[in-house]
Amino acid sequence: MIYKNFRDTGIKLSSLGMGAMRFPENEGGTIDEAAATKLMERAIEGGINYFDTAYFYHSGHSENFLARTLRQFPRDRWYLTNKIPGNMMTYIDGKLRLEVGGFNMESKTLSGPAEIFQEQLEKCETDCFDFYMLHNVSETTFDLYTNEELGIMEYLVEQKKAGRIKHLGFSSHGRADTIEACLQSLEGRGMGDVMEYCMIQINYLDWVLQAAGEKYEVLKNRGLPVFVMEGVRGGKLANLPQKAAEMLKTARPHASHAEWAWRHLQSLENIDVVISGMSTMEQLEENLAIFSSREPLTDKEMALLNSVVDTLAERAPCTACQYCIAACPVNLDIPLLLKLYNEAGFEMMWTISSALRALGKDKSPAACIDCGACNPLCPQNIDIPKALADFSKLLA
Ligand code: SF4
Ligand code: SF4
Repeated sequence: MIYKNFRDTGIKLSSLGMGAMRFPENEGGTIDEAAATKLMERAIEGGINYFDTAYFYHSGHSENFLARTLRQFPRDRWYLTNKIPGNMMTYIDGKLRLEVGGFNMESKTLSGPAEIFQEQLEKCETDCFDFYMLHNVSETTFDLYTNEELGIMEYLVEQKKAGRIKHLGFSSHGRADTIEACLQSLEGRGMGDVMEYCMIQINYLDWVLQAAGEKYEVLKNRGLPVFVMEGVRGGKLANLPQKAAEMLKTARPHASHAEWAWRHLQSLENIDVVISGMSTMEQLEENLAIFSSREPLTDKEMALLNSVVDTLAERAPCTACQYCIAACPVNLDIPLLLKLYNEAGFEMMWTISSALRALGKDKSPAACIDCGACNPLCPQNIDIPKALADFSKLLA
């Protein structure tokens, strides 16, 4: 395992981190604890020491499972990361609400950020988090996170001073200028040095589609280490369509598709940790092997990946994060519909149509009532009702 020094703290973080959002599941959708425990054991044995969870992963069960499993191992073998779910909060007329209904969890009114932070400490059976983040600072959450009356930042800085957060950072699906504005806003309030790192979505496709390179540069210029999520874009870059697959195979016959994506990230010096939500032992073993040494892409390979990107333009670049689902008044499985929409570019239409028939008419793209409630929640900035309307037309 390659390790990176985190700032000047003496902490050595494994360059491959374990994301606790895609553990293997039973048929009922709960974590398959036997299989997930084996994955965790192998992850630690293989040298992974950075573990990342969040309030609503696995419908609120990820935090408990992860913390309970980590406690079986010596404390110096792991770092636990959690996040304040401001991306699921509203603050209207002085009332703070947590809206997590779409994740099979209880939505509720909160007395303040302390209530949720305390609950997270209890769920993780700990008195401090090694790393703690604002979850998804973006164009839609910026106002909430920087609201002085609500005081989320002031509260987290207090927790850091009290030793209940060792290292504070933020994740973001926002634009580069939003990340910069957030950092400037903190500077304006005398908190310019509290953020120690930032997690953003980088992969070779989003380097182009989502201007991930601009975000990376903002962070690098500010001396903030980058942690990466969605390095294989929810698995899409690990299983490429035929044309892209052939292009890569010609250049490097035995490399997996995922290896290309991970090596692209290894080419970027300012990245400390790449978080991967691994669901199978096969994925874990492959990733452990790749992150056992550093092999950045050559200029020629980088140029090849850029040509591959041209063949991958998706209709709707959904990562299946599920953030939008809670908002849909007609309960559409939006990520599934967008997956089928994207597949319609590569698959025979009859396979798509039969998958939709199985869902039923009231769950088809045509059932969207164009209310627009989902759009502000999408970190990938997909115009969801438009995509569903286009999909309907395509099917017709
Ligand atoms: S626009 Fe369509 S998909 Fe989005 S929340 Fe409304 S009904 Fe659901
Ligand atoms: S449409 Fe957007 S919010 Fe919904 S699952 Fe896909 S990426 Fe996530």
